[in-house]
Amino acid sequence: MPVRRSARLPCYDDFKMSHQAAHAIVNLLGKPAEELRAILESRGEPSYRGAQIYHALYRERRFEFAVMTNLPAALREELSRAAVITLPEIVRRHCSSDGAVRYVVALKEAKPANVETVFMPEEHRQTICVSAQAGCAVDCQFCLTARLRGVRNLLAGEMIGQVLIALEDNRTALRPQTNVVFMGQGEPLLNYDAVMTALGILLDPNGMAISPKHVTLSTSGIVPAIERLAQEKLRPKLAISLNASSNEQRNKIMPINRKYPLEELLDSCQRYPLRPWERLTFEYVMLGGFNDSPDDARRVRALLGNLRAKVNLIPWNPGPLPFEKPDVARVDEFRRILQDKGMPAFVRHSRGQDVMAACGQLALSESAAASAAPTQNSPNRSEGFSGVRSRT
Ligand code: SF4
Repeated sequence: MPVRRSARLPCYDDFKMSHQAAHAIVNLLGKPAEELRAILESRGEPSYRGAQIYHALYRERRFEFAVMTNLPAALREELSRAAVITLPEIVRRHCSSDGAVRYVVALKEAKPANVETVFMPEEHRQTICVSAQAGCAVDCQFCLTARLRGVRNLLAGEMIGQVLIALEDNRTALRPQTNVVFMGQGEPLLNYDAVMTALGILLDPNGMAISPKHVTLSTSGIVPAIERLAQEKLRPKLAISLNASSNEQRNKIMPINRKYPLEELLDSCQRYPLRPWERLTFEYVMLGGFNDSPDDARRVRALLGNLRAKVNLIPWNPGPLPFEKPDVARVDEFRRILQDKGMPAFVRHSRGQDVMAACGQLALSESAAASAAPTQNSPNRSEGFSGVRSRT
């Protein structure tokens, strides 16, 4: 389906400014239902027209006003002059032999940036991994995205747009269930408001209507934001990027641990209100010779204590960074130690490794091209790691 694009997109506040606003071009993508209703009301239309646009845009994935046949023809005509629906642009597709597709996506609404989105088909579902930021300032030593440093936060529409373009691009082969994981570039909880707006649309039964069971947000452990998320009515599942069995070990690879050490992080997890069907997920990238010993496994089990949790073990993906893949036997033993102590643990093998779409491999070069120059490696960083999240 063709996508209407605009060169200039004023913000909504501009739009609302009476006289000028009536003639401003506004991008409706990423607007929640109440904002669409307000926009339509400000144009003298009944507010339910906003709800109709919301339905057409997110449920029916109609990106041209001309095909929103639930609207009167005159309104469609008017909207086509006053507003746009601007999706991110796919600038490259990298297709893996396992069916995963890594999209390089250009964002042009605010500061131009490229981010990456990964589409992973399975037998009965597809999983879409979205980026919440361009680059990332959290500076995990094992992560390629960290080399970009923080470029900018994404807008809600830019996150929703990643989901929509992945669905549209695979329209003829979609499975009944869609999973969305916020595990691409960036720390979602450092872009809290926009991420929550995007989640509101994804999880809203009148919006994209994806079950909270099928949407996961992964964080490096921003404790105040986890506590804020705990208060939200509409929440995704929560995954914590653990990757270490002690503060000393975690400090070496995740500087955020110095600000929010394991005790604080796990304390916030303990207080996190889980729904009856829910477990916290702890992601643990296994780095050969660093964090993959039986003693690490025992410490992880002790740390997670009585949490209702599961652990996804992610063997390190070979890539441009100088880290070791763990022995298969060691991974198995690690999993067995956790399971023997009653902790559900799974070994997850990343999809799309041959196109740099696997966990922690989201490529640097193409993002850097539009976003920022790669940073110089510090002596420590050049010895750093890569690989972080399990999109399962
Ligand atoms: S692992 Fe995640 S939080 Fe850490 S630097 Fe990379 S993108 Fe940011």
